Amino acid sequence: MPEPVSFQAPKGTFDVLPPASAGYERLTAAFAAVVERAGYRLVISPMFEDIGVFQRVGETTDVVRKEMYDFRDKGGRHLALRPEGTASVVRAWVEHRLPLPFKAWYAAPSFRYEAPQAGRYRQHHQLGVEALGTEDPDLDVEVIALLAEFYAALGLTRVVLRLNSLGDRVCRPEYRALLEAFLAGRAQQLCEEHQGRFRENPLRALDCKKPGCVAATADAPVQAEHLCAPCADHFARVKEGLAALGIAFALDTRLVRGLDYYTRTTFEFAAEALDSAQNAVGGGGRYDGLAEELGGPPTAGIGFGCGIERVLLACAAEGVDPAGRPAVDVFVVDTTGGGVAVVLTHELRSAGLSADRAWDQRSFKAQFKAADRSGARVALIVGPDELARGVVGVKPLRGDGAQAEVARPDVVAHVHTLVTGAGDVGEQGPRSGPPNGK
Ligand SMILES: [Zn+2]
Ligand SMILES: [Zn+2]
Repeated sequence: MPEPVSFQAPKGTFDVLPPASAGYERLTAAFAAVVERAGYRLVISPMFEDIGVFQRVGETTDVVRKEMYDFRDKGGRHLALRPEGTASVVRAWVEHRLPLPFKAWYAAPSFRYEAPQAGRYRQHHQLGVEALGTEDPDLDVEVIALLAEFYAALGLTRVVLRLNSLGDRVCRPEYRALLEAFLAGRAQQLCEEHQGRFRENPLRALDCKKPGCVAATADAPVQAEHLCAPCADHFARVKEGLAALGIAFALDTRLVRGLDYYTRTTFEFAAEALDSAQNAVGGGGRYDGLAEELGGPPTAGIGFGCGIERVLLACAAEGVDPAGRPAVDVFVVDTTGGGVAVVLTHELRSAGLSADRAWDQRSFKAQFKAADRSGARVALIVGPDELARGVVGVKPLRGDGAQAEVARPDVVAHVHTLVTGAGDVGEQGPRSGPPNGK
């Protein structure tokens, strides 16, 4: 006899199960609809890459230095699970050189080996876009507007945009030297890690949440006040474009984001309904040097990533149901032996309705309970009496509509009108939420 075993999902991961999985499905579909209208096309890249791809883009960051899942495969290759979405898409473009501008979107899991806590997982799921091939600031506006439109499509209203510019290869080095000199004058105040490392990338101290770094950098020089003329023009044009679209934003000169590759425009959306320590529901920026870092020709680019789990938490906090619809429209209760259910569910599904049924010829009571649990808006009831008279009982399961009898040949059209037409058959089905959602 083999030993009994008991397996669980690995620490820091979770199974996405129904009904919560409907939220993932709905978010991905809403996202695809928004970005495809703007000409972005799906890219699916490997979940793992040569570790060098990620090291090239974030050597001084926590994401790459501490949180990456890396391993050697049986061929001795040093690989890493994708910690974020951008590097893989840019690597793919450099490899295949698709025509520019190249506008891509993705829906992909990302992996970070970090201490699990509410809203932070070792595998999380991201939606994102990347647009390569132009420095035009109007593209920055388009990309930011897409993310704002996505939140609006979900029904989120309490999401605010924070905006910054990190300069470019002309003005960043000067600013960086300025910041480094500033930090050197108060190195003792910095947190333990940044005392030793601030020279490696002084911007990281601005991003640090430890009290020492926060206090020491409170009056640090900011890049937005040390932009070269082209960067200042670029930033001004981005702000004008956002204003023209009615997208409100707040300047946040400390917003440097967690990766090294950002240049010029950086942005982040925060959900006010969430706790401020973990309220970032999406963000990104320009990375005009990234394609070159990965061995390609100089190619400007901008993109964002947006964590599905965080967005679902924001939906839950705002009382928005991203699932939006019940699991099935119709549930067939058949106490004649199941033969009617075989044909009727098939006809309903062919007519574009979602339909389910009970199995194993269970009692009326048991089948009706299953119908209720399914979240269906309507139950169709067929017993020996209905079968003999050529009718089907139609019972709304939500709200207080009365049960009706409809001739068997008319029942699919009748239910179709009921479910898709009127929209007042009853309340929505069961709510979905992410793990830890309230
Ligand atoms: Zn620090
Ligand atoms: Zn500049």
